[in-house]
Amino acid sequence: MNALNFIDGVFVDAVDGKTLANVNPATGQEIGTIARSKKADVEVAVQAAMRSRKDWASRSMLERADWLDRIADGLERRKEEIAQRESRDTGKPLTLARRVDAQRSIDNFRFFADFARQQEPEVFEMADATNIVHRNPIGVVGLITPWNLPLYLLSWKVAPALLMGNTIVAKPSEMTPLTAALMCEVASEIGLPSGVINVVHGYGPEVGQAILEHPSIGAISFTGGTATGRHVAATAAPLFKKLSLELGGKNATIVLDDADLDEAVSGAVRAGFTNGGQVCLCGSRILVHQSIADEFTQRLVVAVDAMVCGPPEDASTQIGALISIEHLEKVESYIELGVEEGGTILTGGTREMTGPVIATNAGAFLRPTIIDGLDHTSRTSTEEIFGPIVTVHRFDSDEEAIEMANSTEYGLAGSIWSTNIDRAHALAQQIETGIIWVNTWLHRDLRTPFGGVKNSGVGREGGNWSLGFFSEPLNVCIKHSQE
Ligand code: NAP
Repeated sequence: MNALNFIDGVFVDAVDGKTLANVNPATGQEIGTIARSKKADVEVAVQAAMRSRKDWASRSMLERADWLDRIADGLERRKEEIAQRESRDTGKPLTLARRVDAQRSIDNFRFFADFARQQEPEVFEMADATNIVHRNPIGVVGLITPWNLPLYLLSWKVAPALLMGNTIVAKPSEMTPLTAALMCEVASEIGLPSGVINVVHGYGPEVGQAILEHPSIGAISFTGGTATGRHVAATAAPLFKKLSLELGGKNATIVLDDADLDEAVSGAVRAGFTNGGQVCLCGSRILVHQSIADEFTQRLVVAVDAMVCGPPEDASTQIGALISIEHLEKVESYIELGVEEGGTILTGGTREMTGPVIATNAGAFLRPTIIDGLDHTSRTSTEEIFGPIVTVHRFDSDEEAIEMANSTEYGLAGSIWSTNIDRAHALAQQIETGIIWVNTWLHRDLRTPFGGVKNSGVGREGGNWSLGFFSEPLNVCIKHSQE
């Protein structure tokens, strides 16, 4: 299946006809080609978005909410296909792609449609005047997204951007184009006005860079790695573009001495290894109280050993392939580094599959890995690996747990496991991060702020935070008449 650009309501090749290979990381096989877009393609896409912007902005928010619902309906009709395409593009288990990727992509459109219907006019009365706040569209906005949760993260931006009256030029990761293409097929099927959604595929430094630099794009919403985010900011900030940056993480799972161990172990496994550890929110550092550390770690090893690492399409698979062989090699280099830094591998660290079905192929498979005995300031314990690896560290007091949790450049998320909610809540407020879960992980209410502090990003997404980012407030202050 080939991924073409979607510009002005039409599927087109790159202007110069160039393509890239799309590879399934679970098999190593080429499954299609992708348009390799560049500056000229972005130019055509921006022109289309500019032409449709006035008409789209002139519609009411409620009308645009109805369009979001139609997109959600269209995605829902093709839910299984979303999961299949996502699994083929990423190597993730099909069961996970159904439960998380496909479902959340639909939910994102539905959520923002419903949220729009709950908006109240923003009016501030003074003794002698009335202020009415209008949220105007920005115009054309650029959306750049990563490969780990392809349509989930893209739709999280597309829905609020459209709702607020913007038209979009989006670039998914070149490794995962197929569900963005499916979203465009749905837009076409339901008759969304042409030019409202434009998608250009290709490499970040080529097509992504052209989006960052285009003078008619007023805002950039970027999700990806911290190093790329730094480059995005350096390019877009001097052009005074509005910027939202959702970046990397090295999140702590903190297990206090009063934790329910069964819950804490299964929570740590879920936080550490969901999507093969390739979620920005993954708890890749497990901090555990010294008094329970041995028992916790033994149980953790048993639980991780039981995980099925196998072909994505097999129903029992819990860990599929990583995104590519190159990424697998990068992840493995951290296992070597961990050993050099004095760590002990408690389980995993090898490429074998472990389930009932063992495929013989060239897939990017790595068994889930636990490394113990590392200093919490070591590189392995502080740099984002973005794979199925967790490190385990011991602490003696809540103060020490806080100090360890805060000892990286990141501040995206984390979880605390304790039966004393007051203690956990007090501790949560001292972690430098954007999100902390207590006795749960990745438990999301889409109205709440999502995003990080320190090098994990700038700004928040979710509910009113997204509506605020994708609009420009205009305050109209009307003086009351004297009579
Ligand atoms: P990445 O390499 O930073 O890429 C993200 C996106 O930026 C891709 O579409 C990429 O295109 C594009 N890009 C690369 N260079 C660019 C440039 N010069 N100009 C414009 N765009 C450019 O990240 P990734 O490896 O895809 O994703 C993993 C990272 O994303 C991890 O660090 C993870 O923590 C982070 N992440 C954060 C969140 C969050 O919400 N905070 C959520 C998910 C993932 P190509 O793919 O073509 O290079």
